[in-house]
Amino acid sequence: MNASPRTPGTNAQAPVVGRFAPSPTGRMHAGNIFCALVAWLVAKSQNGRMVLRIEDLDRERSKPCFVDAVQRDFARLGLTWDAGPFFQHDRDEAYRAAFQSLEKRGLVYPCYCTRADLHAASAPHRGEKPVYPGTCRRLTDAERARREREGRSGAARLVVPDRVVSLHDLVQGDYAQNLAADCGDFLVRRADGAFAYQLAVVVDDADQGVNSVVRGVDLLCSTPQQIYLQELLRLPHARYAHVPLIVGELNRRLSKRDRDAALDELMVRFKTPEAIIGHIAGITGLAPSADPITPEALLAEFSLERLQGIFPDPMQILWR
Ligand code: GLU
Repeated sequence: MNASPRTPGTNAQAPVVGRFAPSPTGRMHAGNIFCALVAWLVAKSQNGRMVLRIEDLDRERSKPCFVDAVQRDFARLGLTWDAGPFFQHDRDEAYRAAFQSLEKRGLVYPCYCTRADLHAASAPHRGEKPVYPGTCRRLTDAERARREREGRSGAARLVVPDRVVSLHDLVQGDYAQNLAADCGDFLVRRADGAFAYQLAVVVDDADQGVNSVVRGVDLLCSTPQQIYLQELLRLPHARYAHVPLIVGELNRRLSKRDRDAALDELMVRFKTPEAIIGHIAGITGLAPSADPITPEALLAEFSLERLQGIFPDPMQILWR
């Protein structure tokens, strides 16, 4: 599992390896279950394997009780995994190696912007995410030294080129982003010293052999950044499927705080794991009816080719 150099490009012959990548910050809700179910179906329909990775980069919000709960939840629902759990808290060395390889090439610079600076300087772009205006890229050595003396701790950003990165997503179809215009230099290390999500996920997916990534469409706009990092680090690309979010009334996305859709409440309402899976499959279009069903039984009807067009709305589905 060490980061050896790899040839970039997707390998169509490689066995499919998908992943569950929950953040242990709460119990699973209907949206997490839906995403995990599709990830499992995509991998298993290609005789693939599933890896479980606990994404506990955020030490403050990750709680040990949810690490256990999330595994029990997957197991109870019949969403099995073949390797792991792997934990991000064990992976600092691998992230550091990747970070240093970028740093050695002069591709990262310290960023001293506070949240307030960022908020003031960047207009939200296309309703997606703020574009970093490059403030700290232009600092002189003297200006950097002054900020260091003031005790401002430096996050680190990756310099991005004025280049379009595109992908074909199995659910969303073609998607492209100009790294400079649509995203800007992005964080690879946070001000608190933790490596950033984009870097960690790319290093983890590669080291864990993951080549099939299924996750919520809210992360589609991060994918060009991850593809660009894979290129720089000479890591293979994955195939991506970004599934719609399950939203509450007024398009509010379900969160782990939505008690009504968390697994315990789902069990109270639906009584069995099969009834939960059936309801989620029914409202999302994965199954023709909402009758109770197991992931195994859904697999018999599942077809990867139908994934684009199967969901009533590729962006969001109303929870009911
Ligand atoms: N850990 C993230 C989550 O729980 C998923 C990140 C990813 O799939 O890349 O939403």
